[in-house]
Amino acid sequence: LIASVFDRQMRARTGLLADSLAKANEKLVQAALHDPLTHLPNRMLLQDRIEQAIEKARRRQLRFAVMFVDLDGFKAINDAFGHQVGDNLLVAISARVNRLLRAHDTFARLGGDEFVIVFQIEVPEDAAVVSERVIDAIGAPLTVDGIELQVTASLGIALYPEDATTERELMAHADAAMYYTKDSGRNGYTFFTESMHVAANRQLRLLQDMRRAVARNELILHYQPKYPASGDTIIGAEALVRWQHPELGLLGPDVFIPIAERSGLILQIGDWVLDHACAQLRQWHLAGHVDWTIAVNLSPMQFAAPNLPDIVADTLARHDVTARHLTLEITETTAMKDVEVTLAMLGKLTDMGVHISIDDFGTGYSSLLYLKRMPATELKIDRAFVQELEHNSEDAAIVASIVALGRSLQLRVVAEGVETAAQRQYLSDIGCDLLQGYHLGRPMDASSFLAMANTDKAA
Ligand code: C2E
Ligand code: MG
Ligand code: MG
Repeated sequence: LIASVFDRQMRARTGLLADSLAKANEKLVQAALHDPLTHLPNRMLLQDRIEQAIEKARRRQLRFAVMFVDLDGFKAINDAFGHQVGDNLLVAISARVNRLLRAHDTFARLGGDEFVIVFQIEVPEDAAVVSERVIDAIGAPLTVDGIELQVTASLGIALYPEDATTERELMAHADAAMYYTKDSGRNGYTFFTESMHVAANRQLRLLQDMRRAVARNELILHYQPKYPASGDTIIGAEALVRWQHPELGLLGPDVFIPIAERSGLILQIGDWVLDHACAQLRQWHLAGHVDWTIAVNLSPMQFAAPNLPDIVADTLARHDVTARHLTLEITETTAMKDVEVTLAMLGKLTDMGVHISIDDFGTGYSSLLYLKRMPATELKIDRAFVQELEHNSEDAAIVASIVALGRSLQLRVVAEGVETAAQRQYLSDIGCDLLQGYHLGRPMDASSFLAMANTDKAA
């Protein structure tokens, strides 16, 4: 009797234990496969669902759509009202969209303000109908934390099986279509088409190749000389990255930096650029050019990384380069994106002694108030203005006022893209401090750069 009571108790207890283990397990799975904010499936679960959808559609000859949804202007709301409001907005919007969908549709959050919806369709028009509904649901005004807000969304759609038959391609194509919507004025939807195919495939391929580019030593730096406006002795260089692609040849940054930026690979590439630029500068210093400086471009994602000051400090120390010999270039648009964050980051960098240049100046919208507070060293006039100097009096006036502005803020003014003697003359007449451009020297590899500097000196 005792034994049987004991046994029953044991069994009950094991049962309880198994129960709570199962529950804990369920919670873990839920946490691993869902976004903690909206409780929607995350990227990993989405991938699985798309693969299942492909399997099912293949067996039963069905069609389905993969729809990318990206909110327009979400960043601005986050900046203006804070992350709490931004988070609550995301939750409210996902609840609205969820209400439109059927139980077996998948609605996932990739992160940030990016969502994906996967749903079965009979004909492509079905996807258009869903798009309209999603756009309406997101676009209707809503109140979050007492603030009345309105956002719009850009959608991109890829269809199984006509557009792609693998999870990766469906995602890449829907993404490409979404970017097409963004580029054509946002707030709408676009079906993937063959014309995007070439572009998307090329991007996909470049992205795959880029993952290996650093390890395979395929990146190289070219250096473009910087000169004082009133002289012909090089004061330093801007490092400009290129990619020696094994099949496609030498690729410029405009081709691959945007892809690197969207995939996050830019952080790795950026580290490589900074490291090599500092190593090169050290070589030049050892070769006797002890005053030369090096300018390195930073992408928005690098600039947003909180550990940037540590990376910069480590790199300088590793190569025995002093901070004042390094200039970091950030574009005006990056600098003005999140002004408080920018100010804090620039403060840290300039405290170390690093110089800061505001690149492509004139193409963004600077607030003078912020510009005044910004611990920058240099304004770099965008080359588009310089190029039009001789033909466009408006651009000449803009350049003259940027120079005046820079002077009054005690910033050094650099003009880039100087292609003719006339431009050079004009820019130095109105008081630019430094010049850079094909007329003075093209970007070139390190050994050509040194050879040129040495002949300059001899001349
Ligand atoms: P940027 O920083 O404004 O660089 C100047 C660009 O103007 C370079 O193009 C340079 O080759 C070009 N340029 C220089 N002189 C002249 C001229 O007289 N006429 C004309 N038409 N162009 C001239 P590049 O090397 O193709 O770089 C384009 C952009 O790519 C750069 O603009 C920069 O924003 C970005 N970039 C370059 N290297 C890096 C890098 O290492 N990291 C990051 N994040 N971005 C980079
Ligand atoms: Mg630059
Ligand atoms: Mg520039």
